[in-house]
Amino acid sequence: MRNILVIEDSPLVLKILEHLFRQEPDLQPIFCASLAEAQVMLETSAALFFAAIVDLHLPDAPNGESVDLVMRYHLPCIVLSGSYNEQRRDELLMKGVVDYVLKESQHSYEYAFRLLHRLDDNSRIKILIADDSDPQRHYIRHILEPHHYQIIEARDSKETLRQLNLQPDIDLLVLDHAMPGVSGFELVKLLRQKLRFSELIIIGVSADPKGSLSAQFIKHGADDFLRKPFCPEELNCRVMSTLERRDLLRALKKAAQYDALTGLNNRRAFYEQGIQILQRAQQEQRQVSVAMLDLDHFKQINDNFGHASGDSALVVFARALQTAFPKMLLGRLGGEEFALLSLHAPEQVLRGLENLRQQCKGLHYSVGAPPLSFSAGLHHGEPDDLESLLHEADIRLYRAKQQGRARTVHD
Ligand code: GH3
Ligand code: MG
Ligand code: MG
Repeated sequence: MRNILVIEDSPLVLKILEHLFRQEPDLQPIFCASLAEAQVMLETSAALFFAAIVDLHLPDAPNGESVDLVMRYHLPCIVLSGSYNEQRRDELLMKGVVDYVLKESQHSYEYAFRLLHRLDDNSRIKILIADDSDPQRHYIRHILEPHHYQIIEARDSKETLRQLNLQPDIDLLVLDHAMPGVSGFELVKLLRQKLRFSELIIIGVSADPKGSLSAQFIKHGADDFLRKPFCPEELNCRVMSTLERRDLLRALKKAAQYDALTGLNNRRAFYEQGIQILQRAQQEQRQVSVAMLDLDHFKQINDNFGHASGDSALVVFARALQTAFPKMLLGRLGGEEFALLSLHAPEQVLRGLENLRQQCKGLHYSVGAPPLSFSAGLHHGEPDDLESLLHEADIRLYRAKQQGRARTVHD
C-alpha cells in the first residue's frame, strides 16, 4: 500500500480524485486542503508518503509554494494546474517535479495515476545516459531523476559498451550521436547485431540539423529519436512511451507463449523449444525422451463437479508436473493432454512420472472429487522429427488407456 499526499482545495477536483483513488486499492490518499495543513502533515509524517499530487494554486499558497514544500521533502511531486502556462511548466519541470498535469478532463487525471504507477515500476528500471558532454548528461539526469529511475552514465561509446556488458539488466539507453570514437549511430547498428541487446530500448539524441539522421537511427534499430535541444517533457514522454511499448510487447509475447489457464508452454511454444532441443541432441548425438500425459476420465470431473473444478484440476496437475520435472521442457498441448521432452534418460523420466502419480493422490482441486489419475506414454529415440516422436509417445499413451489407465507404457 502506497500513501499519496494530495494537497488540493477544490471540492470538484477532490471528488474526481476520490473516485479515481477508490479504483486503486494499492494507493491510499491523504487529503490536505491547504499549505498549512500539508506543512503539519509533512513535518510529522513525511516518511510515510510515496508521492504527492499538488494543486499549484491554493488560497494560502497562490504561487506554487505547495510544490516547493513537497520538493523540500524530496517527495515525487505531480502538479495539478487549472491553467496552462508554458514558462511556468518549464520552471516546474526544471525544479524536478514529475510532471505538470492540467485539470481539464478525466483523461488528464488518469494520466496522473499512470504516472503514480510508473513511479513504482521505475525504481526497477535502469537507464544509461551516453553522452560526452557533461552539461548534457547532467541535464538528462536532472529530467529523469524525479521519476525514480536508476541512472547510470557513460562518456563515450567504449564506456557505454562496457556498462552494457557489465549490467545486462539496463533497460534503456539514451544515446548521443556525436561521441568520440564510434558514433551513436554506429553503436546502434553494433548493438542490434547482438541478440542479448535485442530488448534494450534505444533513444537516439543529436543536435545534427539533418532530418535524415532520425530516420537512419530508427531504421537501424533505435526505438525513438530526439533532436537537441529538447524540453524535459519531450524526453519524459519518449522514455515513458517506449517503456510502455516494451511492456506491452512483453505481455503479448507472454500471452502468445503460455497457456493462460496453467501457465505451461502452449502447443506452439512447446514445438518451438522442442525443435531447439532436438537440434542440440543431434549435434551432441544423443537420444531424447518424449512423454505424452493425459488425465483419466477427465470428462467425468467436468460432468460431476462442474467446469470450474475441471479447470482447477488442470491447474493443480500442471503445477505438480512442473515440480516433478523442473528441468525438462513441458507443455499443455490441449485439453487435458500434456507433453514432455528432454535429453534425460528414460529411467529418470519414468521415475519422475511415478513420483507424479504418487503426488496426484494427495492433490486437492474440488471438495469431494476423486484423486487425479493420469495415463502416460513414454518413448526414447533418435532426435529426428518432433511430430513423429510425439506420435510414438501417443501410441504408447493409447495402450496405457486400453490397459486400464493410471499407468505408463514405455518402449
Ligand atoms: P480418458 O480417460 O479416455 O482420457 O477420458 P477423458 O474423459 O479424460 O477424455 P475425453 O477426451 O473424453 O474428455 C476430455 C474432456 O476435457 C472434454 C473437454 O470438455 C474437457 N476439457 C478440455 N479442455 C478443458 C478445459 O480447459 N477445462 C475444462 N474444465 N475441461 C476441459
Ligand atoms: Mg483424458
Ligand atoms: Mg483426452
